[in-house]
Amino acid sequence: MTITASDLQELKDQLGERFITDQRTFAPYMRDMSWMLPEGEPVGAVFAESTEDVSKALAWANKHVVPVSVRTGGSGLAGGSVSYDGGLILSLHKMNRILEIDPENGVAVIEPGIINAEFNKELAKEGFFFAPDPASASIASVGGNIATNAGGLRAVCHGVTINWVRALEVVLADGRVIEVGSKTIKNVSSLNLKELFIGSEGTLGVITQAVVRIEHIPKYEPYTFFACFDSIEDAGYATIAIRAAENKPVSLELIDALGVRLVNERNPDLQIPQPGAGLLLGQAEGQSAKEDVEEFANTCREYGATAVMFEEGNRLFQVRRDAYPALSAAGMEVIGDVSVPIASLAEAIHNIMAISEKRQRRVSILAHAGDGNIHPIVECGEGIEESRAAEELLDEVCEMAVGMGGVVSGEHGIGYLKHHAVTQLLSPDTRDVQLAIKKALDPNGILTPGRKL
Ligand SMILES: Cc1cc2nc3c(=O)[nH]c(=O)nc-3n(C[C@H](O)[C@H](O)[C@H](O)COP(=O)(O)OP(=O)(O)OC[C@H]3O[C@@H](n4cnc5c(N)ncnc54)[C@H](O)[C@@H]3O)c2cc1C
Repeated sequence: MTITASDLQELKDQLGERFITDQRTFAPYMRDMSWMLPEGEPVGAVFAESTEDVSKALAWANKHVVPVSVRTGGSGLAGGSVSYDGGLILSLHKMNRILEIDPENGVAVIEPGIINAEFNKELAKEGFFFAPDPASASIASVGGNIATNAGGLRAVCHGVTINWVRALEVVLADGRVIEVGSKTIKNVSSLNLKELFIGSEGTLGVITQAVVRIEHIPKYEPYTFFACFDSIEDAGYATIAIRAAENKPVSLELIDALGVRLVNERNPDLQIPQPGAGLLLGQAEGQSAKEDVEEFANTCREYGATAVMFEEGNRLFQVRRDAYPALSAAGMEVIGDVSVPIASLAEAIHNIMAISEKRQRRVSILAHAGDGNIHPIVECGEGIEESRAAEELLDEVCEMAVGMGGVVSGEHGIGYLKHHAVTQLLSPDTRDVQLAIKKALDPNGILTPGRKL
């Protein structure tokens, strides 16, 4: 449908300054942090300040059949919030208040735009934390974490975002506002629509408020180990053994030798031990953290670790957070996100290295190893041919992961960039069910069309 000046005025009359048509103002909101470019010129952007704003914007877009790209922190890596030609950008970054911290019920009520790290900073003042902790915590919003069901660095022991959400307020494509879930710990009172929206990447509704679980910060300092391996597959085998044992670490991450070297060059103060092939970093918390970490380190030695270091505190997280930015600054930019059953981790890493060698294209390995979630990071030069070659390599990695019983995205989501890979994963009947749900909630197909589903 062609949008006229009077159609735009209709939205302006409802939202005033919150509807922006000046391209220079909304240009930074046309992209996420993936390599995907905007699909043309949007008609404008709504910088929502309330649920009512979101409702009005969606009712308008639904009436005029305008495709809507939904965005909060903009740190996504799947092209999910990139703008559409003739589309409306709906950004919730200004809805960033913590509405309530409720220690008795162990929950906080938040608007979606609160940045994950800032939320945790505020919670820490009250002695609490929110466990979902993507490496992008300083830029990603909690709303975006919910919309992507973000994983991150503490998932081995604390689970992913879906384990930390009790209730949501969601605006549907036609502007209606619904509430799903509850503040209660238990709830089987209706169909579990809350979980349907978590990880739906802006395709089923727009999250405008959330009740999330919070927990007490452990009173003992965490303990960390760094184990160097001359074979990255051996780091994978050590991970499998650690995960199969009774004690679980909070975090178990893998960075290959190139990643470690680049992180050290970028931030020499960190002084991380340089491995021959891969570095396994793990952390335990609680009263027995030191003993637990020693047990994990012994397992690493059994699987061939050449050196192991221990320390108290949280330095691991800084090392791991610096890894992707350091690799991407060095031209290793195109990031994959497959997840395999944990017992297949070492084999999957081996297969990725074989694909890299076959295609003669450098691939660096970063992994939330303890979750079986691997980020192969592919070297990519300038130009379309280069990005195509990198993406084809990742397609082969996805096929390999699916062949092992894995999935094409563990945490970053499908968005636009992985959309073609979904067909590999789902049977036609399963896909039909998903599309029927989409049709029921968004019959005009205005919310993040052509992505995720
Ligand atoms: C350096 C770096 C490291 C990263 N590390 C991790 C990691 O360890 N783990 C991990 O899981 N991810 C990671 N990511 C990816 C990204 O940060 C996460 O996907 C994050 O959850 C996105 O949050 P956001 O607020 O930036 O969302 P956005 O980029 O704004 O949006 C992401 C998706 O969610 C949808 N969406 C956003 N807000 C809403 C809303 N309010 N309602 C409905 N849909 C919405 C969008 O349409 C889009 O499809 C990393 C990214 C970078 C750049």
